Amino acid sequence: MCLGGFMPYRNELDDVVSRGLERIIRDRSCSGDNPANSSARIMLENKQLIHFSSNDYLGLANHPILKNAAADALCACGTGGMASRLMAGGTTYHKKLEEAIARLKGTEAALALNSGYTANSSLIPALAREGDLILSDALNHASIVDGCRLSRAQTVIYRHRDTEHLRELLKKAQGKRRIVITDTVFSMDGDIAPLPDIVAACREHDALLYIDDAHGTGVLGGGRGTLHHFGITPEPWIIQMGTFSKALGSFGAYVAASHDIIRWLINSGRGFIFSTALPAPVVAASLAAVELIEKDTTLNSALWENRSYLADELHKIGIDTVPSETPIIPVAVGDIETTLAAAQKLFDQGIYAPAIRPPTVPTPRLRITVSAGHTKDELEKLCTTLKELQ
Ligand SMILES: *Cc1c(COP(=O)(O)O)cnc(C)c1O
Repeated sequence: MCLGGFMPYRNELDDVVSRGLERIIRDRSCSGDNPANSSARIMLENKQLIHFSSNDYLGLANHPILKNAAADALCACGTGGMASRLMAGGTTYHKKLEEAIARLKGTEAALALNSGYTANSSLIPALAREGDLILSDALNHASIVDGCRLSRAQTVIYRHRDTEHLRELLKKAQGKRRIVITDTVFSMDGDIAPLPDIVAACREHDALLYIDDAHGTGVLGGGRGTLHHFGITPEPWIIQMGTFSKALGSFGAYVAASHDIIRWLINSGRGFIFSTALPAPVVAASLAAVELIEKDTTLNSALWENRSYLADELHKIGIDTVPSETPIIPVAVGDIETTLAAAQKLFDQGIYAPAIRPPTVPTPRLRITVSAGHTKDELEKLCTTLKELQ
């Protein structure tokens, strides 16, 4: 309705639309009836598509073991979280999940949080405050950027994956508390942070290291994550954050660290203190996922087999997959308009690989993610269709 001609945000919206940047939400039908390779299929606008945009790398979001665990917890504990854990207490599911994460990550303790966004935007301000220095990779996730802003610490961005630059900045800031923050797997380019070198730099300069393993957990190191991938031993000054919402097929996030750091975060993480606990069914699904990847690496191997196959096929048709080193593969096809047209063409051919545009990324691209559930035929169809676009 138009009140006296005043149309709030209409100008802003017109601007977004005219630049081809409006984001919309499409209707998705649940694929629970087809759990076999649900991570590889999606039903959008009533159209069945091969899904190359899921973060459900292992297909766990529709796995019977997770569903049964969630259903049992639903019957035992109900749907709601009731209050924050400091008020209403934590269930045994929460406790067991945190023990499982600490075991998986090789730390003394862990804490579950309501989402990756909540974790970064509330843990970073709990760890850094005015007078401290945060050194943050130029391509870190938006939730890290927001956490840094909320912390009021001085934040200096170092060039993407550039440890020489990081070392220079660390040298200049002796005497302050310094926290280095990096994604492990960068969510848009699929490249990996040079953690062995970053860990060495932090050790030389007595800095803390905070890593966001959202896309590494379940994927790298046989599923155990990026520190394990590099054979790095956890240290009391390394804080590992990650999510249950991607390869683990559930929802929520964790932070794994020393007892002291976890106690500090319980006492100062605003997104933990002032938010209702995750409901037990969600926590039970996360727990089942962690236990599954701990003992069975079949899905992880299938994921990597598909990833190498797709990368090889893309190379054969002249598509460069650099800098990707993971199941996230960006494919640049041109400017915003060309990229949108390419995504639409793929959509028409039954393939879902959406265009990612600024401001999410500096340059437009199709962002392809491969999962354990894709068949060779599906990977080949993607390549054939991409080839026709060239
Ligand atoms: C997805 C993602 C998050 C946010 O996690 P949610 O659980 O979806 O809120 C944080 N960091 C990185 C690197 C991510 O990719």
